[in-house]
Amino acid sequence: MKEFLQRTILLLGLHMITKYSQRLGYAISTLLVVCFAIRYHIKKNVSDDDPLFQDSPPKIDCPICFLPMPYNSGACGVHTSYQSCCGKIICCGCVQASRDEIKRRNKERSKKKKMEDLCPFCRTPPSNSDKEEVKRIEKRIKLNDAEAFLRFGNGYNYGIHWGLPKNRNKAFELYTQAAKLGSIEAQDQIAKAYKTGAYVFGQGVKWDMTKAQYHMELAAKGGHEIARHNLGLMEKGFNGNIYLAMKHFMIAASSGLEMSLKEVGEGHKAGYVTKDEYTKTLRAYQNVREEMKSEQRTKVAELYSSTYKIVGRN
Ligand SMILES: [Zn+2]
Ligand SMILES: [Zn+2]
Repeated sequence: MKEFLQRTILLLGLHMITKYSQRLGYAISTLLVVCFAIRYHIKKNVSDDDPLFQDSPPKIDCPICFLPMPYNSGACGVHTSYQSCCGKIICCGCVQASRDEIKRRNKERSKKKKMEDLCPFCRTPPSNSDKEEVKRIEKRIKLNDAEAFLRFGNGYNYGIHWGLPKNRNKAFELYTQAAKLGSIEAQDQIAKAYKTGAYVFGQGVKWDMTKAQYHMELAAKGGHEIARHNLGLMEKGFNGNIYLAMKHFMIAASSGLEMSLKEVGEGHKAGYVTKDEYTKTLRAYQNVREEMKSEQRTKVAELYSSTYKIVGRN
């Protein structure tokens, strides 16, 4: 409500500049800009018990190498892969290790029938058609697998997987189901839907920043690294409080997110983050990145970055 009033008064000021009195309009606008600037720099104290500003929960472990993985694939330099055969989420390092092993065995087999790629966890061959993949995910949905709901949601949201048509109403329903079953990635997708208002063209949901923030907070509390970073950006820009923004960035950086660490570094240079806070965050960042490291994961990360460079050159 307060935000709404502030924005209404600002618009009124701008309206007065153009319509009635330039001087009065300028005075109101200047006053408001000064008020926003003061508010932006006021340090808000957050209670130690505030559930929104607690450290992130422990990361999920890869069921094969048992090393921690990020909550959303690609964050913290580690990609993950969902296996529709057994419903396991596996780190990119283990997927790559399994592929390398099959390649090695196939070389030894020379004239014998070559082995095909297998699920690194349950050793099921990959589905050989979109139809089969859809069947597998439907089977997982019957088992109330939150990830399966999420994958189908993505399928309908983007309309580029497994021959599924673009249908954002359906995608939103599936994300809601996935979120109810505990998927924090689905909470982030719901937040994105409300935030971007991308669903306004006759499908999905309308633009609603209050709902977007609510779902983003649920995702962040669940450990979603990018959602936590986006909350920081929201405080920095839309809500306008640099100290709260830094609190979010410090939590996200401590869970291994590089772009949040960059924000904390800049905040430290500008005086919004103390030296102690910066040192503590940097140490936590380094520890969690070290815990997630493996030879195979580094190999995949290098592969991704060289692919990106090639794409960039073209
Ligand atoms: Zn692994
Ligand atoms: Zn499997």
